[in-house]
Amino acid sequence: MSFSANVERLKPSATITVSILAKSLVAEGRDIVNLGAGEPDFDTPLFIADAAVHGIRSGRTRYTPPAGLPELRQAIANHLAARSGREINWQGVVVSAGVKQALFNTFFSLCGPGDEVLVAAPYWTTYPDLVMLARAEPVTVFGAEANSFKVVPSDLERVVSGNTKGLVLNTPCNPTGAIYSLAELKELSAWAKGRGIWIVSDEIYRNVYFGEEGGAAPGVLDLPESDVGNFILVDGASKSYAMTGWRVGFSYSSVEVAQKFTALQSQITSNTATPSQVGALEAFRNVEAASLAIAEMGAAFRRRRDLVITLMDQLLPGVPYIRPEGAFYLYFRVDGLLAADESGATAWCSRLLQEHGVALVPGAAFGDDRWVRLSFAAADALIEEAFERVVAMVSTGAAV
Ligand code: PLP
Repeated sequence: MSFSANVERLKPSATITVSILAKSLVAEGRDIVNLGAGEPDFDTPLFIADAAVHGIRSGRTRYTPPAGLPELRQAIANHLAARSGREINWQGVVVSAGVKQALFNTFFSLCGPGDEVLVAAPYWTTYPDLVMLARAEPVTVFGAEANSFKVVPSDLERVVSGNTKGLVLNTPCNPTGAIYSLAELKELSAWAKGRGIWIVSDEIYRNVYFGEEGGAAPGVLDLPESDVGNFILVDGASKSYAMTGWRVGFSYSSVEVAQKFTALQSQITSNTATPSQVGALEAFRNVEAASLAIAEMGAAFRRRRDLVITLMDQLLPGVPYIRPEGAFYLYFRVDGLLAADESGATAWCSRLLQEHGVALVPGAAFGDDRWVRLSFAAADALIEEAFERVVAMVSTGAAV
């Protein structure tokens, strides 16, 4: 069967593939510890769920405008204004079916054949595929491992070309947990502004932050307006409010760009599901309850971050890893742990899953198959169990 060039290079999401495989092994009765999933293990806070249920019962079940309920766009604008101290025009906010759709809108509207988009690597697995769906070329660029792979302008200088249209940054980063400081963001945005390159800033993990307690990771809106050129900010409810299945994300951009995204959504999906928007409205509007929920989940993620670091240092000494400063992933290097017949982390993860029942995501999904991503959005006991199984495999298996 031949498909259109639009989808010729499209592959299914590698992280979702691992999750589906782990779930199907569980359904077969296998004892699997799944640390492959990229979602909080908490239920959506009740104040949000209740608002959505009430919304459904009171008839909030019809179409909304394609860019979302005006009151939700306004609540998101207020949220962005409160955190940045800037004036935010609610008409620049477009509510989408998750950050995924906001990113699709971005690449599809701003790029096309012949354009290149720089993708800071290791990258969230979906960025290159979304760029390719717009028939543009993703150009991956790694920073130094010693700098948690964060890119700096000299890294970008090596790969920039006359066709470069955008630069994708993700902070806190999936899969490394690295965070760009305000000074680092400032340097990068000055570089991009000077070359007329769009910054696409994915800040979906902004609230899962291990810096100052109660704080959030720096983002583009924290920079003085004069330092930033064209940008699209994407964020959403999935990770901050444990709402992955609700499918609520948003973009914030100039009104002109927001109008194009709205036109695109009006032709392909119409609005994000109305009950989901009603739930998200409560999440963004009820600042007090939302802050409590974020703090509670944040404390658990921080404790687990400390736990995985302790376990790495004690049980796998000498195995390189990136110290997570945000998000809920540990990225560690397994090329020193491979069996003789294994060429990379994909084979190593497959053995770990089949023989020891632990699901992790191989680094091939993020641009480097010497590494592995472990999600610590799981109970402490499961994390400890996973480490025991990894150690069991490493000590019976190949060269260390
Ligand atoms: N961006 C990053 C970096 C992610 O890790 C994910 C999900 O794992 C998303 C975006 C997608 O989030 P959403 O559920 O809002 O589509």
